[in-house]
Amino acid sequence: MRIYFDNSATTRPYPEVVSAVNQALLENWGNPSGIHSFGRDAYDALSAARKQVGGLINAEPGEVYFTSGGTEADNLAILGVAGRFQRGHIITSSIEHAAVLGCCHYLEEQGFDITFLPPDAEGIVSAAQVAQALRPDTLLVSLMLANNEIGSIQPVAEVGRLLAEHGVLLHTDAVQAVGKLPVDVQQLGVDMLTISGHKINGPKGIGALYVRHGVDLQPLLFGGGQERRLRSGTENMPGIVGLGVAAEITAKRWPQQARQAAAVRDCFWHELQQLIGGVVVNGGWSQRLPGNLNLSFQDVEGAALLLFLDLAGVAVSAASACSSGRAEPSHVLQALQLPEWRLKSSVRLSFGWENTLLEARQAAKIFAEQVELLRRDKA
Ligand SMILES: *Cc1c(COP(=O)(O)O)cnc(C)c1O
Repeated sequence: MRIYFDNSATTRPYPEVVSAVNQALLENWGNPSGIHSFGRDAYDALSAARKQVGGLINAEPGEVYFTSGGTEADNLAILGVAGRFQRGHIITSSIEHAAVLGCCHYLEEQGFDITFLPPDAEGIVSAAQVAQALRPDTLLVSLMLANNEIGSIQPVAEVGRLLAEHGVLLHTDAVQAVGKLPVDVQQLGVDMLTISGHKINGPKGIGALYVRHGVDLQPLLFGGGQERRLRSGTENMPGIVGLGVAAEITAKRWPQQARQAAAVRDCFWHELQQLIGGVVVNGGWSQRLPGNLNLSFQDVEGAALLLFLDLAGVAVSAASACSSGRAEPSHVLQALQLPEWRLKSSVRLSFGWENTLLEARQAAKIFAEQVELLRRDKA
């Protein structure tokens, strides 16, 4: 028996996604730029996927641009805006994904001014903070819809209403929010929005950037002019049709899926508290993704606990999957200004719709056993 509580790192593809990917490789393998029937069939599949992805976020198909994943979509949004200007000011948060932070640090070196807004104790950046940081030369605000480590949900719609009055562009990384929260580009008032295939039971290496009609971005890749000249390169058709199917299924099932993930999380947390003490939750409860739980354990090292849990059959993350393997503590937990022990002893559990209450109870028991083992070792 193995239990997977790491759904924010990646998710298992839907069987329907696997079939669609297979079909794109075995049968509909033409180049969508081709003008013969092979090309037209592939083009039809490309158009269908664009419609499916647009449908998931209430965008027009023509506002969806396929990329190699969430990372590239974040890069395209931020570097694409910056590339249209020589200098200027960008506002973001200090708890963004490395894809956003990396772009912002790069632009800082290139002479742009970047404001990294700190979150409150619950992991949330307010619209008032954004309002205070605005300057006459502000080009862009990039604020994630939900954080990947502590699941904190940011007030993006409120920021959208604020920026509409100022003519400043708004990008949101919605990779963790899609499939767990309502994500509607009109309601959010965003100009750009990032999604990733493998976080919504689609394939890896595929993502999309929503770009509102009329927003002009500088491309990162030059070549054949695919994706309406914004993203050259022959389309990753297996990935694109797989993402399309994942988007269509997610659009239908996400409310039940989010409820299930929350139920499993709440069951796990309830059981764990019956079994052991010295555990605290990082981040707040009120604005939190349904499947996220970030915990710190007194007198335990997070990395050691992760390894012990893995041997016992439970897969979780320490800090974030992208930074594990590195020794320094998570930039997100640091931004919450937590004491040292909580930085070192944290693990992230991310529950998905396939997880069950039985798994929650079994995993709580395994957690309690492994934590006690580590504490005994230390004592
Ligand atoms: C996973 C993730 C990304 C990166 O997406 P990839 O498709 O893996 O490149 C970006 N932002 C957030 C919030 C993520 O969780």
